[in-house]
Formats: sequence, structure tokens, C-alpha cells
Amino acid sequence: MTRRSMTADGRPAPTVSFVSLGCPKALVDSERIVTRLRAEGYALARDHTDADLVIVNTCGFLDSAKAESLEAIGKALKENGKVIVTGCMGAEPEQIVSAHPNVLAVTGPQQYERVVEAVHRVLPPRHDPFLDLVPPEGIKLTPRHYAYLKISEGCNNRCTFCIIPKLRGDLVSRPAADVLREAERLVKAGVKELLVISQDTSAYGVDLGYAASRWRDREVRARFVDLARALGELGVWVRMHYVYPYPHVDEIIPLMAERKVLPYLDIPFQHAAPAVLKRMRRPAAQEKTLARIARWRADCPELTLRSTFIVGFPGETEEDFERLLQWLEEASLDRVGCFKYEAVRGAAANELAPPVPEAVKDERWHRLMRTQQAISARRLRRKIGTRQPVLIDAVGAPSARGRTMADAPEIDGVVHVTSRRPLRVGEIATVKIERADAYDLYGSVVGF
Ligand code: SF4
Repeated sequence: MTRRSMTADGRPAPTVSFVSLGCPKALVDSERIVTRLRAEGYALARDHTDADLVIVNTCGFLDSAKAESLEAIGKALKENGKVIVTGCMGAEPEQIVSAHPNVLAVTGPQQYERVVEAVHRVLPPRHDPFLDLVPPEGIKLTPRHYAYLKISEGCNNRCTFCIIPKLRGDLVSRPAADVLREAERLVKAGVKELLVISQDTSAYGVDLGYAASRWRDREVRARFVDLARALGELGVWVRMHYVYPYPHVDEIIPLMAERKVLPYLDIPFQHAAPAVLKRMRRPAAQEKTLARIARWRADCPELTLRSTFIVGFPGETEEDFERLLQWLEEASLDRVGCFKYEAVRGAAANELAPPVPEAVKDERWHRLMRTQQAISARRLRRKIGTRQPVLIDAVGAPSARGRTMADAPEIDGVVHVTSRRPLRVGEIATVKIERADAYDLYGSVVGF
């Protein structure tokens, strides 16, 4: 049993248990809700059984994610009984309520205020001057040394497989100064790596007309590259996620070459066959993209490219798929995630062409993963013998675990590190890479 926090008058603090499902963007929403609740004197419980109430932040992107969300809600109801649901799945409350009629409230994505209101109704806050002190960076559900920095909500694209614009609306960007001040607070609180996220990072500021706002002694425009440059002044690792392949992405490569931001780009290419990309409503000039990748690597040889792909998109032929495999060989990306197409309810793609049979999707998924595994292993082997700065994520025997500039937390590989002197979580050590497998690196510390 965990010890419960007390309020100043000796009564137990109202306690909430929180389940955060889905992508890093949902995690940022969770952090905001938790920060707000902590500021109001709520305590967090590790287990549902120790809490007065459970909040489940759901993911509604794929049917498998919805099933996982419904399962998490069921578990919370069984173990606790009082459950409030929020997040992407909350945009379609009927599905939740028909599966779990006993949930107390359902709110949609980014409706922080409404979640907090629902909590107030079920479990009113108690003022407590001690518990009301929230660390200036807010409560982070990620470890202290790295933090996600959300720069916008929503998306102006209309990829046919995606219902995010329906769930979250069009792009709404935060002013640059707002983002930068949050980043400064995080860095002051000990964060060593900022992970810039949104639905479409390269579109940042379009909705604001790229308006400038005042940060430190100057104006910073709400433009992807300007924001990256300013974040680069904070002296920590800055990693760019979910970059849509617009032409102006080229402008960020020089900043990467100068190490102002990490030489790492997470660009979801999704496919390579023009016919499929067209049906996806994604940019379809993959030959040009290969030339761009070659240019980026010439300008910044250390650049790591991560991407995601969908196999089994409606109407994908064997020829389309082979074209994708061939493109992957030529692009030689460092890291790749692959999803089998799922017919998400409400996605335009479902109507565009006949579905690909599940067995074919499976077979293509395995072929893609095999192809990419060999490519990734080849790219990783090139690092053997090099010295890399490694940010330590976890310590323990016989080795610690960290990441190079090429590895984002949770989605990429890690470095298994041995060291003569004990390492601390959040420090950056220089590691000589001695070995590699298909995903991870192994090495020992040669300096700090
Ligand atoms: S860019 Fe991303 S969020 Fe926007 S519609 Fe396409 S897949 Fe969805």
C-alpha cells in the first residue's frame, strides 16, 4: 500500500490515478492535466486501488488503440469504480458509454478545463498551501531529463487515412515566445533534451501568419526554422518530430550541421509508390525526395532519418509495395516504424479502393521489417569505433542505458554503456561504440 499525502489539516489529500495512452502528444496533454490538478492540491496514486478517482487519457487513432483504451477503462472501473475519460476517443463518447455506461464523464482531446471541472464535481479540491506548490516546469510524466514540447495542436493536412484533423481540428500554433518560455523553464528545472512535437511540426506558425513575439531581447517569428534556431540557444538537445516533408525543411539542415539542434529528423513518409501517396493525399514526388535526402546527408553527414510507413493501404498492389521496398533500399533510412493499414472509422481512405486482405498485409509487413532491419543494422555498424555523446537514461548493473543523438526515447534503439565510475541519470558521457546489433549499440565510457 502506498502512503497517502496529507493536507495541512491532517486529512488525506484527494488522490487521482492517471493512465496515459497513445502518442507523445497525448502524453503532453496528460502532463498538463496532472500539473493543473497538482497545483490544486490533488495527489497522484501509483495504483487505481489507492486513488479516489481514475482519469484515463485515451487514444482513438486506430481500432487497436481504441480497444486498448476501452480495456484500460474497464480495468480502472473494476479496480476503482470512479472513472473519468478524456483524450482522442472522447471525441466519440457513444463508443465509450456503450461499452462502459458507468464512467462518470467523457471529455474530448485538449479539453483540459472540462476534465478538471469533471474532477472537481466528483472529487472537490481541498486547499493546501504545501500541496499547492507545483514545480515551475509542471509535473512531467516523462523522466526529469527529457521533456516533450508541444508547439501546436491540430493539422491542416487531410491525409485520407487519418482522422486527427476531425478529432483535433485545424492547426493552432502557440506563439513562439510562449513555447520558448516553457522550454526555458524546463531547462532551468534540469531537462537536458527537448522533444519538439505537434501533428505537423514543419507547418508551425502558418495559422499565425508566422507572427513574431517577444522573447528575451528580440522578436522571434513563429516559423519552424526560427523557432528551432532559438531553441538551439538553450544549450540542450533539441529533437524534431513529425516533420511533414515540405520544401522549407531543407532550411533546418544547416542548423543540424552546426549542432544547434540534433541532426535527427522524424519524417513520416508513409509510402513511396506515387499512386498510393496520391490516394493518401501525401506529397508524391519520392524521386525528388531521394535527391533531397542525398543533399541533406552531404550537408550534414551525421543526420539520422527516422520515418514511418503504412503497408496494405487500400488498393496497394504488389508492384506498389515492391516500389516501396526498393525506395527504402535507396533511401537507406536509419530507423523505420511500419504499421499495417487499419480501416479507422471515418477515414476517407476506406472508400478509395478495395481493402488489402489481412494475410497480404501481414506478409508485406514482415517483408518490409526484414528489409529495413538489414538496412538499419548496416547503418548502426558504421558507428562501431566512433565516440558518441550519450545521454544516460537509466543506471544499473551490469550496464547503464542511454541514447546517442540518433536515438529518440521510447521509439529508437539505446546504447548499453559500461563505465568505471558510476553514472548518473541525465548526464552526458562520451562513449566509445564497440558493438552493434539490429537496434542497439554497446560501448564503454571514455570521457565526460
Ligand atoms: S499530417 Fe499527420 S495529423 Fe495531419 S492529416 Fe496527415 S497523418 Fe493526420
